[in-house]
Amino acid sequence: MNTVLIAFVLLLILKLVAGIVLDCLNLRHVKAHADEVPEPFKDFIDLPEYQKSVDYTEAKTRFGIINDIYDAIILAVVLLSGLLAGIYSLFSEWFGYGLWGQALVLFLTGIVLSLPGLPFDWWHTFKLEERFGFNKSTKQLWFVDKIKGLLVGFVIGYPLLALLIFLVGAAGPLWWLWGFLVFFAFQLVMVVAYPMFIMPLFNKMEPMEEGDLKTRLFALADRTGFKAQTILVMDGSKRSGHSNAFFAGFGRFRRIVLFDTLIEQMNPEQLEAVLAHEIGHYKLGHIPKMIVLSALSSLAMFAVLGWLEGAAWFTDAFYFDPSTHDQLVPVLLLFMMLSGLVTFWLSPLSSRWSRKHEYEADAFAREAMGSCEPLSQALRKLHKENLSNLTPHPLYSNFHYSHPTLVEREEALRES
Ligand SMILES: [Zn+2]
Repeated sequence: MNTVLIAFVLLLILKLVAGIVLDCLNLRHVKAHADEVPEPFKDFIDLPEYQKSVDYTEAKTRFGIINDIYDAIILAVVLLSGLLAGIYSLFSEWFGYGLWGQALVLFLTGIVLSLPGLPFDWWHTFKLEERFGFNKSTKQLWFVDKIKGLLVGFVIGYPLLALLIFLVGAAGPLWWLWGFLVFFAFQLVMVVAYPMFIMPLFNKMEPMEEGDLKTRLFALADRTGFKAQTILVMDGSKRSGHSNAFFAGFGRFRRIVLFDTLIEQMNPEQLEAVLAHEIGHYKLGHIPKMIVLSALSSLAMFAVLGWLEGAAWFTDAFYFDPSTHDQLVPVLLLFMMLSGLVTFWLSPLSSRWSRKHEYEADAFAREAMGSCEPLSQALRKLHKENLSNLTPHPLYSNFHYSHPTLVEREEALRES
């Protein structure tokens, strides 16, 4: 076995073991607190409800561990057996080594590689989420979603891939810099286009109904300097009982989306606080900051691609035919499959950064509401209704959580 494959196997095992160790630590921590409701939560949750959230965390963790092991085995088999290289040369024989042919090969190989994950997706929706009363999707809707996702991916992804392959041929050794520019421009367009054109393909996004709630929320938006026409309600209840709210887009294209499930669960004051939090993300420039970070990581990604594209040892190691005309598509395929082994270790950094933004948006909401109580109540409600894990292991939440835990957020809210 050559050095590249040994490094791959080591990275794969390291990531799998680290993930499982974190999961087990977290689960043990949760179960150690399961017999009675911990002090900070006694005010708003009773024992049966609390234990339901413990059961949910346990079920999700077990499912996640099995899924991770399965994914690691699939990845190992596909790469170590030469199956990926085999699929690539088969498709290339069918569709050719031209620009559009190779883009199609890349797209189709991506689809083939996503197939083994489907049973887990199905199980997650119709067994796990169903058992805890969250699933509202039907088997038909699940199926239609997959087909739609595939079509949207094709319409957007196929020309983009072809453009990337074209650049390698046309732009010379610095193609990766051009590739980055194209990709970054695409990302910018998607920040706006995704909520405007793609999300509505899957969900209804409608302006709020007239009434007290709308008047109240719009008044808050005015007060905090947010153009209120873009507060939308999304029929999240079509698929799931989970509730959420988010901010998307930038500039004139900004919008705040509230799930219908959230509106059902919360009273107007709590909704106002959630809205204030989302407006906080906007006012504090969190989206442009995220865009800059993602540009930097894309640049790094393309620099690595540019380097690997000329490195025959890399594709050779995974059994790609060295006489293949073009190295780019094999490199992209390998990159797609392997990058997770490295980016996994960066997730504490990005989570930490995201949590910093959440604290800032919480503080903004507290100022806008004139008190920490409304947001605090809203967060309690959100955690309770979503059966969120109230007692994650600190290592686990530090590593994985994009939002601080409820206790952390409430503590920060109460600090002046
Ligand atoms: Zn937030």
